[in-house]
Amino acid sequence: MRYLILSDIHANWQGLEGVLAAAAGRYDEIVCLGDIVGYGADPNRTTEWVRKNCSTVIRGNHDKACSGLENAEQFNPVAKQAVEWTHHALSDENREYLRALPGGPIEVNGFAMVHGSVRDEDEYVLDARDAAPQFEHVTKALTFFGHTHVQGGFFLRAANSASDDAVGAPGTFHLRDNDLCLVNPGSVGQPRDYQWEAGFAVYDSQERTVSYGRCPYDVQAAQTRIRAAGLPASLAERLALGR
Ligand code: ZN
Repeated sequence: MRYLILSDIHANWQGLEGVLAAAAGRYDEIVCLGDIVGYGADPNRTTEWVRKNCSTVIRGNHDKACSGLENAEQFNPVAKQAVEWTHHALSDENREYLRALPGGPIEVNGFAMVHGSVRDEDEYVLDARDAAPQFEHVTKALTFFGHTHVQGGFFLRAANSASDDAVGAPGTFHLRDNDLCLVNPGSVGQPRDYQWEAGFAVYDSQERTVSYGRCPYDVQAAQTRIRAAGLPASLAERLALGR
C-alpha cells in the first residue's frame, strides 16, 4: 500500500491542488496529520476535501481552536485573528467534523500518526534534542508528525546499523530493520523551511520506502484569496517566502 502523507494544509486550497497534481498516480490512500484549517482562506473547501478523500485524519492545534474546542489564548495575535475568522467562516457541519477529530497517536498499517509529538499533540519537534526523548515513547518504528511545517526526519539507529547514509529531505530512503524514524512530510499550505513549494511525503509499506516531495503551486492565487478575505496581509506574504 502506498500512502500520501499530508500535514498542515491550513486552508490553502491551491497548495493542496498542487500536491495532488504532483503526487498523482503515486499513492493508493491519503492520510492527514492535522491543521486542516487556520491561516488560509478556504477552510470549507479544504475540510470537505479531507472528509471525502482521507482515510485517516487526526486533529491539529488549529483544528481544535478554529472549531471552538480550545481557546486561542496561546496563539500569537495574527494566528488568533485567523482562528476567529475561520471559526465564523466554517459551516456548522465542517466545524463539527473538526471538533470530533481524534488526537494522535493513531496507528495505521504498521505506522503511527501524530500532529506534534508522540508524547503531546501540541509539542514541537524541531531538532534532534526534541526528537531524542520521543524515541522512548514510540510504539511503531515509523511515526509521521507535523506541526513544525519543516520537512525532514529524525532517526535512531540500531546499534548494529550497517551504514550511516543521510536520510533527511529531499529524496527517498529505505526503512531499515530496528531503526526508529520520525518523519515530517512538511506543510502543504504554509511551509516554514525557507522554500515556498508545498511539502508532502509518500510511504510505500511494501517497498518500505519514504519519499519526500516538494511542488510548486499557484501561490499568487492563494495570496489573493487571503487578502480578499480580510485576513492579515502577513499570512499572504509569508507563503511566498516559505517562512
Ligand atoms: Zn500547523
